[in-house]
Amino acid sequence: MINVTKAFLPPLDDYVQYLEGLWASGWITNNGVLVQELESKLREYLDVPHIQYMSNGTVALQVALKALDITGEVITTPFSYVATTTSILWEKCKPVFVDIEDKTFCIDADKIEAAITPATQAILAVHVYGYPCNVVKIEALAKKYNLRVIYDAAHAFGVRLNGVSLVNYGDLSTVSFHATKLFHTVEGGAVISHDKEMAKEIHLRMSFGHSGEDYYIAGINGKNSELHAAMGLATLPFVSDLIFRRRIISELYDSMLQGKGLVFPEKVIGLEYNYSYYPVVFKSETQLLQVKEALDKNGVYARRYFYPPLNKLPYHKGKDCPVAEDISSRVLCLPLYYGLTDDQVIQIVRMIVNEL
Ligand SMILES: *Cc1c(COP(=O)(O)O)cnc(C)c1O
Repeated sequence: MINVTKAFLPPLDDYVQYLEGLWASGWITNNGVLVQELESKLREYLDVPHIQYMSNGTVALQVALKALDITGEVITTPFSYVATTTSILWEKCKPVFVDIEDKTFCIDADKIEAAITPATQAILAVHVYGYPCNVVKIEALAKKYNLRVIYDAAHAFGVRLNGVSLVNYGDLSTVSFHATKLFHTVEGGAVISHDKEMAKEIHLRMSFGHSGEDYYIAGINGKNSELHAAMGLATLPFVSDLIFRRRIISELYDSMLQGKGLVFPEKVIGLEYNYSYYPVVFKSETQLLQVKEALDKNGVYARRYFYPPLNKLPYHKGKDCPVAEDISSRVLCLPLYYGLTDDQVIQIVRMIVNEL
């Protein structure tokens, strides 16, 4: 069986070494030494001033919305994992969907302005598959209309644009360290912020809203544990190897799938990519379903990321977004992970090409 992804597990001894420290100290959660060490190493790796490690990427989104005091309309993308929209709904805000670009699959910055109303307070955009949103244009719009910008950077770990870490854009960026992501801590996430005040606010929001004996605001529990941080610390040294192998696999797919009438995200100039996903857009949904069935039959489980489009969720319908709906009906993410062999890639490509 080949799944779309497979979590990388570091050498068990590396993990156990961290656990030994925990067994010695007895301190297993509540901002312990490993959480602090992981935050410090992530600050360095991602080249960011402040990062707060959390229980998952969805809570990170919720805390980000709360910390910026967003209560009204939030302009967002219909093409993402469902958590992007549900976090907005959970915070009792209103998602306003703006269609995506057909080149990067990110929100179309040229269509944002028309969706801004007096109730708009924020833009929650996603660097889909690790490809960057039009950060320059979004920043200009945010300035013009006094909007906050949150980037859901769950796919963008380690991505740089023109030498700048992508998670440095926006008022806040969130990341996910779920087991299915490029870098993971089993479960986990983080919020990246740019000044001390905001970092303090986020800390308060994720720590029940109190600091010691002083109670300030209503917060939640967004903390993560020392055991999860240990997984992160044991995995982080391997991230550059993981990205390198993913790049080789992606290039192998590229070389074998060219000239077959398939569409791929357009290369972005100045992008240092992380090869987090390998999306392929087929000619039609019928062709996609045919390919998927053939893969399924052979025990290869590619995934329809992202389907359905979030403006069509049964519990919250947004207005039509033709580009997102079209791409969503035709896109499939192929298996891509560290342990996938060249032979397996070649087999997968054969199964696909057979159906074209
Ligand atoms: C994975 C993911 C999330 C949610 O992260 P969790 O850590 O699983 O809660 C949010 N947004 C996007 C785009 C994701 O891919």
